[in-house]
Amino acid sequence: MAVPSVARLPPREIPGMNPVEAARWYFDQAAARLDLSQNMRKLLLTPKREIKVQIALEMDNGEIGTFLGYRVQHDSARGPFKGGLRYHPEVDGDEVVTLAQLMTWKTAVVNIPYGGAKGGIAVDGSLLSRRELESITRVFVDEIHDSIGPNKDIPAPDMGTNAQVMAWFANQYEKYHGFNPGCVTGKPLELHGSEGREEATGRGVVTIAQQLYKRRGKPLAGSTVAIQGFGNVGTYAARFFHEAGAKVVAVTDVTGGTKNAGGLDVWALIDWGAAKTPLAQFPGGEPITNEELLSAEVDLLVPAALGGVLTANNAEHVRAGMILEAANHPIHPEADEIFNRREILVVPDILANAGGVTVSYFEWVQNQQHFKWELSRVRQELDRILIDSFDKVWTLATEKKVPLRTAAYIIGIGRVGRATVLGGI
Ligand code: GLU
Repeated sequence: MAVPSVARLPPREIPGMNPVEAARWYFDQAAARLDLSQNMRKLLLTPKREIKVQIALEMDNGEIGTFLGYRVQHDSARGPFKGGLRYHPEVDGDEVVTLAQLMTWKTAVVNIPYGGAKGGIAVDGSLLSRRELESITRVFVDEIHDSIGPNKDIPAPDMGTNAQVMAWFANQYEKYHGFNPGCVTGKPLELHGSEGREEATGRGVVTIAQQLYKRRGKPLAGSTVAIQGFGNVGTYAARFFHEAGAKVVAVTDVTGGTKNAGGLDVWALIDWGAAKTPLAQFPGGEPITNEELLSAEVDLLVPAALGGVLTANNAEHVRAGMILEAANHPIHPEADEIFNRREILVVPDILANAGGVTVSYFEWVQNQQHFKWELSRVRQELDRILIDSFDKVWTLATEKKVPLRTAAYIIGIGRVGRATVLGGI
């Protein structure tokens, strides 16, 4: 099938935007096509609740540490609020509102029965000891436990958090509310986690890539991929791209990275990364910076790290033909417009990285039913949901001649809008 051709839009002025304005920009592209009134737009955009708490604890050196914790519950028209918890120094109110909104559209695009939320603590987790990390998590739960729960709002891992943090989170929640494994997802397998949850986002990225290549009539095997970010998502994506026969030719993390035009030895690189040795020193490649990776001559570029990495300043330098947003919000609207003009196909975050929350849904279902699924079942159900969601987005983009992002937003916002109206205001 042909690539969806995007109707040419007149050039527009997009002034420098903060994260909330950028999210609004993407929302408005779809809202205009859906003919949503200004009142409906306001209703759908305004978060239901924004929680901001003080987290105070005694640090290992005996001093008092004070941090800010956030939980933004954006929308619950389609089910309980759902979304990750991020521990990162750049976490702030605006960022969390934006990411919570993205979760609402994401759960709607893949049609799982949740709304959207996001939370976080403004802290650099790498500077905390294990005891401090546990304490900060438990105090956060102390502050917000009444506002969350398996039928209210279900947090999950995100940047800077992992299964261990979710285990502490659940344990602290259960001190107040009794046995409740479904209060959080992304837990360790030994504590009611799901098979396939840890790999889910990276695996989903590759499943979506396979569909994209199929539609473009190209084989993924043998094609070249550059991945920015080598945390949970980037590592698993690299592994599954490699298993699918693609050549991972460049990988970076915050410290820089490594490239090899013949394809990196991904398994050796994963071991290298696990040993916390700088990627740039990997013996199987040449050093590369993050900026160089973003402009690498590859078939597919996968930003899997922070938001806002592709901007008006570097979008013209991108040489990849396709971009898959494994991170949340990696592309500024200015850059997005440049990619549309240059006919670089972008698969948006709310579809490309939805594998994580989809398997979170499976984990929650297993917790509610006290029944464990095999890995093969998790993978099969995940593939089914992602392939079906991709098909719907692709078909709509082709029919309406809009970018894949706008098509995904039309589907997501449309579903949330209809649920809101049917439920009654
Ligand atoms: N943090 C992930 C995301 O941004 C997963 C959220 C979840 O599993 O609830 O999609």
